[in-house]
Amino acid sequence: MVGHVTAPAAALADRLPDWVTLVRAPNPGPMTLDGTNTWVLRAPGAARSVVIDPGPLDEGHLRAVAGTGPVGAVLATHGHPDHVEGFDRFVELTGAGDDTGGLEITTLETPGHTADSVCFLAAVGGERVIFTGDTILGRGTTIVAWPNGDLGAYLASLDVLAGYGAVPALPGHGPRWPTAARPPGSTWLTAAPALTR
Ligand SMILES: [Zn+2]
Repeated sequence: MVGHVTAPAAALADRLPDWVTLVRAPNPGPMTLDGTNTWVLRAPGAARSVVIDPGPLDEGHLRAVAGTGPVGAVLATHGHPDHVEGFDRFVELTGAGDDTGGLEITTLETPGHTADSVCFLAAVGGERVIFTGDTILGRGTTIVAWPNGDLGAYLASLDVLAGYGAVPALPGHGPRWPTAARPPGSTWLTAAPALTR
């Protein structure tokens, strides 16, 4: 029964860890789906958060993210403007530096969408999630972007992510995935419609 296979994963995908907050930027479009996902990570009891992808230079959005509380550090999954155009302004607003607030964050080099694309594996206690930027989108297929995208590198990066099994993937656009591991015999280039059906 398909339901027995998909139900637990769907339940996991519906729930964010209580130390992760999503603030979605108001920049929906063909390339940004519902808008850029700005992720705020705050370990239980931590004074400061870590923000991943502050998003476009939209003062209202940046202030909304800053309004979630003191920020210790800001990270970016890659250099596309819809993810980092507001980076400097956000640092100015928050005074963020290099305090990761007790979070364990590992940077995974995952070139392909762009040469500078990375994913962040974050852990609190035993709970792990991967922030995938545009390497894995919440819906559909990413692009191998001009001028330095690389399809071969992209496929190799998917193999890297596949090594993280059932760790939920929180993308730069669209809804979260229950796992960063692509289904057997498939890739994210073809898997998305099957998984969201
Ligand atoms: Zn991008």
